[in-house]
Amino acid sequence: MITLPCPVCEERLEIPEEISRFACARCNSELEVRRGGGIVSLAKITASPEGELALLEKELAALMQQRIVDAPVYMLLRHDLYRLGKLHIWNLTFASQSDLEFIFVNLKSAELDKIIANYQDNPQSQMFQWLLKIRECRQKIAQVKQSIRS
Ligand SMILES: [Zn+2]
Repeated sequence: MITLPCPVCEERLEIPEEISRFACARCNSELEVRRGGGIVSLAKITASPEGELALLEKELAALMQQRIVDAPVYMLLRHDLYRLGKLHIWNLTFASQSDLEFIFVNLKSAELDKIIANYQDNPQSQMFQWLLKIRECRQKIAQVKQSIRS
């Protein structure tokens, strides 16, 4: 018997010798046991919606950690947030990292689209690319949440 983390939800799973496919006890994703060269690993066949959501949320959290030069990317959006009316002029330079993160995470999709439009003249920029990835990830999360609810 060996123990490996689920590749979707990271739950520690005990894997019997003879088994090659099973569903994770926690997130219900379908998993395949790969054995080769004395190494046993687990691969995802299909993630359950709950598992998919956990993966997407991990991806979004990783995007939020990304930096341009020395700052998390969303910290460079002060002026965009100000133009949207999300920051007051007196707070434009003083808003803290956690304030900016909170405002950014809670933007409605139409507001995020307006920010993206500010950068579309420079489609190769890291900022534009990052914003597109954030939007895509947010849309996928909304879809998966929808499918879990229905
Ligand atoms: Zn799992």
